[in-house]
Amino acid sequence: MTDVIDGNAVAAEIREGVAGCVDVLAGEGVYPGLATVLMSDDPASETYVSMKQRDCEEVGIDGIHVEVDSDAPASELYGTIDGLNDDDAVSGVLVQLPLPDHVDEREVVRRIDPAKDVDAFHPENVGRLVAGDSRFKPCTPHGIQRLLAAAAVDPEGKEAVVVGRSDIVGKPIANLLFGRGEGGNATTTVCHSRTADLAEHTRRADVVVAAAGVPEFITGDMLTAGTVVVDVGINRVERDGESTLVGDVEYDSAAEKASAITPVPGGVGPMTRAMLLYNTVKAAGLEAGVDVPLP
Ligand code: NDP
Repeated sequence: MTDVIDGNAVAAEIREGVAGCVDVLAGEGVYPGLATVLMSDDPASETYVSMKQRDCEEVGIDGIHVEVDSDAPASELYGTIDGLNDDDAVSGVLVQLPLPDHVDEREVVRRIDPAKDVDAFHPENVGRLVAGDSRFKPCTPHGIQRLLAAAAVDPEGKEAVVVGRSDIVGKPIANLLFGRGEGGNATTTVCHSRTADLAEHTRRADVVVAAAGVPEFITGDMLTAGTVVVDVGINRVERDGESTLVGDVEYDSAAEKASAITPVPGGVGPMTRAMLLYNTVKAAGLEAGVDVPLP
């Protein structure tokens, strides 16, 4: 029997816990706020930002939304970030990526106050994660770790294979999986587009995390029976003349082999959103010196 790991259910529990943190903070006169900044005309980015605002509303976090014209000079975005960094009503600042070509994404990430960097992309937060002393864990990798825990999969001593080495998924999830502490201690291999024989690695894995952005390219024949499969991919493809979402894993063939698997949609995606709320109440608690009962 393959266990289908229900990201929606796990995320709902986290959101409930976050709402409890909001209540505790309110009892101390602290009202967490998440600022989302959009500098893009891309409909997908607009959708992501509005979903994040809706999530905030649902758990009682104040949502602050700022739009910067996509043609505006980068300095306008920097000024917006500086203002949010200085605003006491803002616990977390999230700048929706990608940004227009004329804006240096790295500079934007560096500009956000690390104490309000709820995406955990700032070099200080990346460094702390690597050093095993994280302030915030980045949302998608943290969500993956929590999904594994919910499915009673302890990575300790296991072979974990991460496919993808991006700054937002591959590298940080590898760090969490091999790091010391709960949800870590796996022997971890990171594969990428130059890996010579990907299937050789995935076949000896106990846990595969697929984050390559290539639709359905991890297939059942690349897995050994009993592997736990976490599919991070979100790819929009045309099927029978209709647009549909698929992951980086070919679900049907992989599910035949896997002992547990995350579906797309309904796996990692909802966890990413939930962990953003988690980081926002954590930021508010740290800033105010209030101990919040993080879920
Ligand atoms: P990137 O494009 O930044 O990175 C993809 C990585 O996969 C790169 O390291 C690349 O290697 C590697 N790769 C590409 N093709 C292959 C291949 N054929 N074999 C092995 N490795 C390969 O993507 P992201 O990390 O940002 O995202 C990955 C996927 O996860 C996407 O589908 C994205 O939409 C999704 N995503 C989902 C989230 C969620 O909440 N569920 C959140 C974030 C992302 P190289 O470095 O050599 O180029």
